[in-house]
Amino acid sequence: MTEASSGYRIAVIGSGPAAFYTAEALFKSGVADVHVDLFDRLPAPFGLVRGGVAPDHQKIKSVTRVYDKIAANDGFRFFGNVQLGRDLAVEDLNARYHHVVYAFGCESDNKLGLAGEDLDGVYAATDFVGWYNGHPDHRHHCFDLANARRVALVGNGNVAMDVARILLEDPDVLAKTDIADHALATLRASKVEEVVLLGRRGPAQAAFSPKEIEEIHAIDGVDVIVRPEDGELDALSARWLEEEGARSQQRNVNFLQERAAAAESAADSKKLRCRFLVAPTALHGADGKLAAVTIGHMQLQADDSGTPRPRATGTEEQLDVDLVFKAIGYRGEPVPGVPFEERKGIVPNIDGRVVEELGGEVRLGHYCAGWCKRGPTGLIGTNSLDAKDTVKAMLEDQAAGAVQPPTGGDVAALLAERGVDAVSWQDWQRLDEWELAQGAQRGKLRHKLASVEELMAVVRELRPA
Ligand code: NAP
Repeated sequence: MTEASSGYRIAVIGSGPAAFYTAEALFKSGVADVHVDLFDRLPAPFGLVRGGVAPDHQKIKSVTRVYDKIAANDGFRFFGNVQLGRDLAVEDLNARYHHVVYAFGCESDNKLGLAGEDLDGVYAATDFVGWYNGHPDHRHHCFDLANARRVALVGNGNVAMDVARILLEDPDVLAKTDIADHALATLRASKVEEVVLLGRRGPAQAAFSPKEIEEIHAIDGVDVIVRPEDGELDALSARWLEEEGARSQQRNVNFLQERAAAAESAADSKKLRCRFLVAPTALHGADGKLAAVTIGHMQLQADDSGTPRPRATGTEEQLDVDLVFKAIGYRGEPVPGVPFEERKGIVPNIDGRVVEELGGEVRLGHYCAGWCKRGPTGLIGTNSLDAKDTVKAMLEDQAAGAVQPPTGGDVAALLAERGVDAVSWQDWQRLDEWELAQGAQRGKLRHKLASVEELMAVVRELRPA
């Protein structure tokens, strides 16, 4: 761990992609003597790359090698197990850094706002994703897969694809990944045979990436089923696709229409049924347990910008299902001392400069990057461009003298004084090696510990005497 010195000192809150790309842009900026400290409330770094990207998507997870290189810069420090609002206050950061960058993402989920949403058997996809990835916040969840045959999955973005794939994939395939042990045990006992994907718009507006749906179709024993009527494009969508549609949307439509023309396979025992122009309107239960979902039929109407939006037709149908997973997007949560824009669930900002409220004053020296800046959209790489834009604003402000020179000492001393056991980058490297070695012994890629207590116990045990 390098000592903080007098140079240009930046605190980044979070250690996911947006945080690392912010550090990278700062180290590459040409500004001399840059010191970047990344803080994470968890002992292990990498945010959604560790806790969100699916365990069978190791190629995507391998982006951490890029982050390892960024961490190798002189002037980089990691402070894991340190939470803003618990261990440090914004004022502590103001006193110790020229600039503070919030890159803490969006950790919660959107709600449907329907009666019955709190029934047993109605789950947030974000909880399921954190659970199978061994995220300490999510290890306590119970997903009753042993008593479920048919599952409805609301929303058809890439998170829905991850959830569908994990539910339908052979557990023996998942066993070789870094999936959490508790999740693998539950998936081995799963009776889920059918996932019904509920998209509120049409096939042209499906939010999944083509290769994600194609990957599910390629799983042995899984059939992707589209009813002929669900493969059809309405006139508005056909025009919209031709005039404004991306290549990926056309590829989705081609795939879905091919599936709509194909006969249902008798050989495949598991099914992903893609329904379009449907959205839940009520969730029904018996004795507190979900039993069915009413889905309302939609039609598309162009909004002021010409984008097709769903409107209820007034007709409905009932679908008997054992579980519902809501995959309708992540949502940001307020962090103590940091401005929060309730409607969008983000840190209010103008091009990465934090403002006290929408239309309000800029908060000198405070910036944001990634999902907490723009909302939960885009792929990992999107955060690189996003972080570069934020760093550009920071450097412009620095050149214009819009900085508050720090007056306090090193944050490491403050944390030690407060009795906070911060995880350093070297601590993490030892833990990383330990997880890989434990995984190898178990015939899997990595053995993840799923609680802060267990992670910290190993971190302490591995520290040189
Ligand atoms: P998303 O892509 O925004 O998809 C959300 C889905 O929920 C959409 O289908 C949306 O429909 C639907 N929805 C929203 N509110 C709804 C409501 N009230 N009722 C019914 N449906 C509703 O979000 P996400 O899947 O959470 O993914 C977040 C980001 O992470 C995306 O950029 C995604 O590509 C990325 N990601 C990538 C990967 C990967 O590359 N493998 C994996 C996971 C996530 P509308 O389109 O009609 O709004």
